[in-house]
Amino acid sequence: MKPVPTSTPDTREWFDRIDAGELTVPRCTACASFFLYPRSSCPRCGARSVELVPAAGDGVLLSFVVNHRAPAGFEAPYALGVVRLAEGPHLTALIRTDRPESLEVDAAVRVAFEERGERRVVCFEVAE
Ligand SMILES: [Zn+2]
Repeated sequence: MKPVPTSTPDTREWFDRIDAGELTVPRCTACASFFLYPRSSCPRCGARSVELVPAAGDGVLLSFVVNHRAPAGFEAPYALGVVRLAEGPHLTALIRTDRPESLEVDAAVRVAFEERGERRVVCFEVAE
């Protein structure tokens, strides 16, 4: 089986909302910066006041690799990419496609979710 995320006190709500089918982006309520990974204080100004804002769900594929040797639970070939969310932060995730050889840098992508047992993980699909 593919791995599932393990929450920490700082990431629990973020992962719980992903389990509910919602991607959020942490935002500092003091300086309005968006950031990822989720944490309890702002990496820009240090304020300990953070809120989770629903993400637009759109992004741009900044980089990717196509893995042809799959670890346990994965089926090759599959793509792993770095996506810049519309809100700014970057997220590394699976890029779900039947044709990984056709992926291109700068492609518009849209958030999706993959079921893994009782959890969900964020992945992306090329936007139509
Ligand atoms: Zn801040």
